[in-house]
Amino acid sequence: MAEPAAPTPIITVDGVTKTFPTPDGGLLPVLDGIDFRLYPGEIVALLGKSGSGKSTLLRCIAGLISPSSGTVAYKGTQLNGANPGVAMVFQSFALLPWLTVQQNVELGLQARGVPADERRERALKAIDVIGLDGFEAAYPKELSGGMRQRVGFARALVLEPDALLMDEPFSALDVLTAENLRSEIVRLWDSQDPSAGSPTQSLLIVTHNIEEAVLLADRIMVLSSNPGRIMAELTVDQPRPRDRRSPEFEALVDQVYGILTGREEAEAETEEHGEPSPATPEANGDGKPRKAPKSPTEVPLPAVSVGGMAGLLEILLARGGEDGLAEIADDLNFEIDDLLPLVDGVTLLRLAKVRGPRIELTDAGREYVQADIQTSKEVFARLAAKRAPLVRAIVQALRASADGDLREGFFLDLLRRGFSAEDARRQLDTAIDWGRYAELFDYDADDGMLLLEREPQDVG
Ligand code: ADP
Ligand code: MG
Repeated sequence: MAEPAAPTPIITVDGVTKTFPTPDGGLLPVLDGIDFRLYPGEIVALLGKSGSGKSTLLRCIAGLISPSSGTVAYKGTQLNGANPGVAMVFQSFALLPWLTVQQNVELGLQARGVPADERRERALKAIDVIGLDGFEAAYPKELSGGMRQRVGFARALVLEPDALLMDEPFSALDVLTAENLRSEIVRLWDSQDPSAGSPTQSLLIVTHNIEEAVLLADRIMVLSSNPGRIMAELTVDQPRPRDRRSPEFEALVDQVYGILTGREEAEAETEEHGEPSPATPEANGDGKPRKAPKSPTEVPLPAVSVGGMAGLLEILLARGGEDGLAEIADDLNFEIDDLLPLVDGVTLLRLAKVRGPRIELTDAGREYVQADIQTSKEVFARLAAKRAPLVRAIVQALRASADGDLREGFFLDLLRRGFSAEDARRQLDTAIDWGRYAELFDYDADDGMLLLEREPQDVG
């Protein structure tokens, strides 16, 4: 009857939702219904695209911001302010330039009122553990990026947190330095001597790098975007250190690619089937109302240029029209934040489609990459005006205006109902890049005007 008691989670996240007010009085849903436990002895990776809410979730867990609804608890006690059991490592090193390495490491202890002798002793130990022995008296500007991030780790570990929270800790480092530091974190973690009092009991690492997640984590939580929801949880049953070239490793990387692109794929398919077309007259006869076209805030444009998307399509063509996403990322040294927005762009426009971990050119995509410049533009114009809601909305608004022109402020105001000011600008810039290339409309940067091209393309 007496089952062994389940270990108390260090962190318990229950039904956490977070919305941010937009400049125009709307609400931007960033996190939705997040449930999550972090247990002693595990490394968990939180993986998602840029903007999916990873940092927001980490800040909620650290108690730096509070959720809009739901709760975060540390060892069963609901947070009310900063989480006392965690320490954070940030992407940018955020060291104080006028303090030495040792003084930087001691800062957090000082804030907790630890006496000077003990501070010194603990800081020196943490500096040693993280491989900075001999640099105690150096100033941040004398250190390389990799060494500065070591200081960032030492500063967090010296607090002996129950959970070490890391927000993309390797992403500001060059590839080799990042790889070295990753290996050392693994080495440190696996060589922890529980009897000696370990520097931390659990690691929660936020990353947009799939291989990093598979390399480090016992468990991977995959976050969707707009809003961020946990869409998959994977257990990684492979001993560390892991071999990136092993079949199990590659299979898991592929699986994660499939998950991260799967939602769009499912959406694309329902849309295709739900669309009335002459070939399938029954498509609209099943009693379901025809779906209204999605709005620019429902379908954000991925922040990619036409040139970037064209590059991806050309790569696909050179590879026979299709390839695995992981293979492409690997060969080009792309991370998912380089590749996935491009994939989102070309799939939104139906220039390519994703099946599981693979991407292939559609007929339109093939035509686009192989045609002459003018035909390519026409293919792009047709798809952008149909598939990219913001491009479509701009064309329609310009046509409805008296002179065929409108101030960009008009569109920025609309976008700010669903996006932050920064994201609204980014959305408009992307739409302008696409629309100008397609010769759907032009943009005069000097006075911030959007105007119809003289010979408007047929928008259908
Ligand atoms: P990630 O870390 O996954 O890249 P973030 O958590 O930083 O994502 O951001 C998720 C979304 O929330 C983004 O659209 C971002 O613009 C928005 N956001 C984050 N913090 C704020 C804030 N303080 N106010 C308004 N919007 C925010
Ligand atoms: Mg972030």
